[in-house]
Amino acid sequence: MKRLVILGSTGSIGVNTLNVVREFPHKFKVTALTVNKNVEELAKQVSEFKPEKVFIKDEVALEEFKKINKHPVKIFSGPSGLTDIAKDDDYDIMVSALVGFAGLAPTIEGIKLGKRIALANKETLVVAGELINKLCSVHHSEIIPVDSEHSAIFQCMVGEKKDDVEKLILTASGGPFLMKSISELQNVTVSEALDHPNWSMGNKITIDSATMMNKGLEVIEAHWLFGLPQEKIDVVVHPQSIIHSMVEFIDGSIKAQLSMPDMKLPIQYALSYPERFSSSFVETNFPKLGSLTFFEPEFEKFKCLKLAFDVLNAGGTSPCILNAANEIAVSSFLKGNIKFLDIPVLIEKALNKIENHSSPDIETIFECDTITRNYLRSLTN
Ligand code: NDP
Ligand code: MG
Repeated sequence: MKRLVILGSTGSIGVNTLNVVREFPHKFKVTALTVNKNVEELAKQVSEFKPEKVFIKDEVALEEFKKINKHPVKIFSGPSGLTDIAKDDDYDIMVSALVGFAGLAPTIEGIKLGKRIALANKETLVVAGELINKLCSVHHSEIIPVDSEHSAIFQCMVGEKKDDVEKLILTASGGPFLMKSISELQNVTVSEALDHPNWSMGNKITIDSATMMNKGLEVIEAHWLFGLPQEKIDVVVHPQSIIHSMVEFIDGSIKAQLSMPDMKLPIQYALSYPERFSSSFVETNFPKLGSLTFFEPEFEKFKCLKLAFDVLNAGGTSPCILNAANEIAVSSFLKGNIKFLDIPVLIEKALNKIENHSSPDIETIFECDTITRNYLRSLTN
C-alpha cells in the first residue's frame, strides 16, 4: 500500500489522480490533499478518501471548509502549511500537481525526504531544473513524469541507454489556433483560447497550449528530465494527440507511446512504475482513428515556443523570468486585460529588462520570480 500526498487535489490532474486511486483501493491510500480554495470539492474528496490532513490556502475558504466538513481531518493553513505537509515524512509518493511556480517549494521538500515525485508541475523543472536534479541525486529522490509527452519518452526509454538516443521528438496538438493566421489571432477571445480540441485541463495550461508556450515549457522540462541538449529535442505538431511523444535512437529506430488522450494513463504509470497495473481507462481503436498527421511547428506564429527555446539556450534565471512573465501575462489575458498576442510581447519585454543570473541558487530563483511578477504587473495593470 503506497501512501500518497496529492498537491492540488481539486485541479484537473488532482481529480484524475483520485480517479486512478479509486480504481486501486488496495494499492494506494491518500494521506493528504491540498487546495487553494475549492473547499466544496475538497469536502467531497475528504468524505470519500478519508485523508489524515488537508491544506487550504485561501482564508475565507478555510472557514467555509470548517463549517461544511463532517470528517475528522487535521487542517493546515497559512504561509508554511503546504510545505509543512510536504515535510512530514509519512508518505511514499508526492503527486505534485499545483499549477505554476507555487509548486516549486513543496516539491523541493518532497525531494529532500527522498520521496518519489509524480511530477505534473512542469514549472518546477522549468525554473529550477539544475537545482532539482542535484537535490534528487543527493537525496535519492526519483521524479516520474506525469506530463503525457514526458511519460511517453520515459516509457520509450525503459531498457535503453541515454547515449543511444539520437533525439527526443515531443508531439504537440497545436491547440485551438493551429489553423488560424497571425492576423486572425489578433482578436481571439478567452473562451476561444480555452476551447482545447483534445484535452480538458486547468485554465493556465490550456492558454499555454493555445500560445504553444506549453510545448516550450515541455522542451525545457525534457532537457532536465532526460539530460539531453536542446539540439536533441524536436517538436512536431500532431493534431490528433494519439502519439504522446517519441524517441529516435542512433540506429534510426524510433519508439513511440500511443493511446487515446487521457491523463489517467500517465498518472497511473507514474504511481505504478516500474510495474503496470491492469486498467481500462482508455481503449484505442486504430481503424476508427483514421489518419495521424504531422507538421513542422510555426515559430513565427507561436512566438512563445521560440522564446522558450531561446531561454533554454541562455540558461541561468532566464527560464524563471519567462515562466513568471508568462504566468502573469496568462492571468491578465484570462481577466480580459490584455490581448492574446500581447502574451509573447510582454514576456519578451521581461526577458530584455530583467538581469539573467547564471547558476542561480534557490534564493536567487525566488527573488527573480518576484521581480519579474512585479515588473509584469506594472505593465499589465
Ligand atoms: P488546475 O488549475 O486544474 O489545478 C490546480 C490545483 O492547484 C487546484 O487544486 C488548485 O486549487 C491548486 N492551486 C492553484 N494555485 C495554488 C496556490 N497558489 N497554492 C496552492 N494551491 C493552488 O491545474 P492542472 O491540474 O491543469 O495543472 C496542474 C499542473 O499540471 C500544471 O503545472 C500543469 O502544467 C501540469 N499539467 C497538467 C495537465 C492537465 O491535463 N491538466 C497535463 C500535463 C501537465 P483550487 O481548485 O482550490 O483553485
Ligand atoms: Mg503535456
